[in-house]
Amino acid sequence: MRICRFDDNRLGLVEGDEVVDVSSALDQLPAVRWPYPPGDLLIRHLEELWPHLEAAAKTGERLKISDVTLRSPVANPGKILAAPVNYAKHIEEARADPGINFGSDVKAIDHYGIFLKATSALVGAGEGVVAGSADRRTDHEIELALVIGKGGRNISEAEAFDHIAGYAIALDMTIRGTEDRSYRKSLDTFAVLGPWMVTADEFGDPAQVDFELRIDGEIRQKSNTRHLIFDVPKLIAYSSQAFTLEPGDIIMTGTPEGVAPVKPGDVMDCSIDGIGTMQVGVR
Ligand code: MN
Repeated sequence: MRICRFDDNRLGLVEGDEVVDVSSALDQLPAVRWPYPPGDLLIRHLEELWPHLEAAAKTGERLKISDVTLRSPVANPGKILAAPVNYAKHIEEARADPGINFGSDVKAIDHYGIFLKATSALVGAGEGVVAGSADRRTDHEIELALVIGKGGRNISEAEAFDHIAGYAIALDMTIRGTEDRSYRKSLDTFAVLGPWMVTADEFGDPAQVDFELRIDGEIRQKSNTRHLIFDVPKLIAYSSQAFTLEPGDIIMTGTPEGVAPVKPGDVMDCSIDGIGTMQVGVR
């Protein structure tokens, strides 16, 4: 299934070029009061909600996807985790370009660990990205993202796939500079997730997935997840050694070579096989 959030927090199932409004199923979520349970309530209860989503889809309003504004499919992630320098050719370009490395010696992922992006930076494809100030380089980074379904700590690589709710396309937008990653990658709108979440059963194996980012028809980034240094199960195992993972946590798996600046007016055309394409405007 393909789950999206659109317009005024409507919940949708994507079928072809249409979205079916299944918001009525949200009435089945448990009533919660402060302090809220950690993580995203919808993702936490997604499995119990399946029959209600399917029932709601039979009578839900159908809209053209092109007529709705797509929001992040995860509304309330507890945290956004991201992998730094997780493709060898991206390490090479970062080492070669002072506009990326700012004089620092670029090391490998096991040197840096996992970093966190502010949840306030999260937007959907239809909301677009606000570029950093004109005197700072703002780069695109397309990444395969996964959404944690079942939480846990010290999850083994062998069990990692049991903890994934689904996958989506992510943009880990970045200003280049000397500041910490968590600062440079957490400006408002700098975490894009979309266009929808494809459930893990439908997406299948994330080990060999083609993806690319184009601007004005020009391919800027094009790679395959087989080039990941830490693959999906390893990222879950590695992250969960440090952090308790909660339903709705987002893990951005890292970007390949080809990172480059965007400017207001650009539209980033982002595609990942098995998910689809999202157009994300820059303003
Ligand atoms: Mn990144």
